[in-house]
Amino acid sequence: MQDDLTKRALDYHMKDGVPGKVTVVPSKPCQTADDLGLAYTPGVAKPVLAIAENPEDAYKYTSKGNLVAVISNGTAILGLGDRGALASKPVMEGKGVLFKRFADIDVFDIELDTKDPDKIIDIVKTLSPTFGGVNLEDIKGPECFRIEQELIKSCNIPIFHDDQHGTAIIATAGLMNSCEIVGKKLEDIKIVVNGAGAAGISCAKMFVAAGVKRENLLMCDSKGVIYKGRTAGMTPEKEEFATDLPARTLAEALVDADVLMGLSVADCVTPEMLLSMAKDPVVFAMSNPNPEIAYELAMETRDDLIMATGRSDYPNQINNVLGFPFIFRGALDVRSVIISEGMKMAAAKALAALAKEPVPASVEKAYGGQKFSFGRNYIVPKPFDPRVIEWEAVAVAKAACEEGLAGKPITDWEGYRKSLVK
Ligand code: NAP
Ligand code: MG
Repeated sequence: MQDDLTKRALDYHMKDGVPGKVTVVPSKPCQTADDLGLAYTPGVAKPVLAIAENPEDAYKYTSKGNLVAVISNGTAILGLGDRGALASKPVMEGKGVLFKRFADIDVFDIELDTKDPDKIIDIVKTLSPTFGGVNLEDIKGPECFRIEQELIKSCNIPIFHDDQHGTAIIATAGLMNSCEIVGKKLEDIKIVVNGAGAAGISCAKMFVAAGVKRENLLMCDSKGVIYKGRTAGMTPEKEEFATDLPARTLAEALVDADVLMGLSVADCVTPEMLLSMAKDPVVFAMSNPNPEIAYELAMETRDDLIMATGRSDYPNQINNVLGFPFIFRGALDVRSVIISEGMKMAAAKALAALAKEPVPASVEKAYGGQKFSFGRNYIVPKPFDPRVIEWEAVAVAKAACEEGLAGKPITDWEGYRKSLVK
């Protein structure tokens, strides 16, 4: 028997007799013979010649500049593992819906039936003239690291693996604010990252970039603590976080830790482990759909906890939708050639700063009248807060301009900010 969510979700995906969630809509009229001669031959030859002469004109005469490829091979779909390219299509279509809904960006979702990293690199590189940017999605580690790095090197448009960096950006914003709330400095905290996959590695790198001391960061994977000299299940990315300290298990690593970042699997953290952490511990249990420790159990275990999860039904959701639409919006609008570390940090800081602003009544209304104010149960903004695009896209675009990465720099920032408000 289908449960309620199964039925509602499957019905949603075929609602009104239309299979799937996206469709392509022309942006120019095509009603008359004259329209036809402009949209297609003979008129269309004119932009062809213009672009052949000056490639920049593609941004004037085609939809390239506002079009993002969402590309997956289905090897790490949500928390569901390898389900194949075809089964990833609902997620990639969904990503397209979110890009459009939150940042008015068009998406082609592309599902690739291959696990060969070189083939993926070659295909994406070959496809890149079509797009203004590429969002890699749900491609498993460790291949995802090389695929992204090679593509960044060989393409002149932003390439962004959301499972790595989107997660890191929102988690960093949440970490900055949580530490501020409990009066701890990033450079002083002892932090355990449980999970050394796409999300765990990228989060750890960004925490260090934000001020966490590498020697105060312990990383664990399915085999326990990653330590210097360990040989089982190691990768170059894990090696970077191998510790000299004697802890070998998650339980040992967590003793006196200030922060636990869970990017692993459900229910691997026990109440005893939480009890061994320092005062005012910060726990982000982000395994989806079920966290490393259930929200209720964690809150029952300690009353001095700041707790975040990946779920929308508890406070402090670390939701990637707070990142990718707005980060791409900013990057596309200044035609940045990459999404740099500086742009990612600017996005995290913008989100952290926005969470400290008073929340308008319209946002509280969108969340059924819930009240939000900066504190233990509100560490990052809500996705339906219309200010997120203004704060984050502007911050990302500014960072690109400051770093000299923008092909089309902005000078009128107030004008740009206003243009984002719908
Ligand atoms: P991934 O690339 O498959 O990595 C999973 C990592 O978890 C691997 O390093 C694996 O260890 C480790 N692991 C497995 N069992 C473990 C255990 N019992 N204890 C400690 N580590 C264990 O996956 P990912 O993309 O990084 O995502 C990881 C989790 O985070 C998923 O549940 C995903 O849904 C969640 N996530 C949440 C958000 C969010 O809330 N916004 C965003 C991204 C990801 P080995 O390396 O030894 O195999
Ligand atoms: Mg994903």
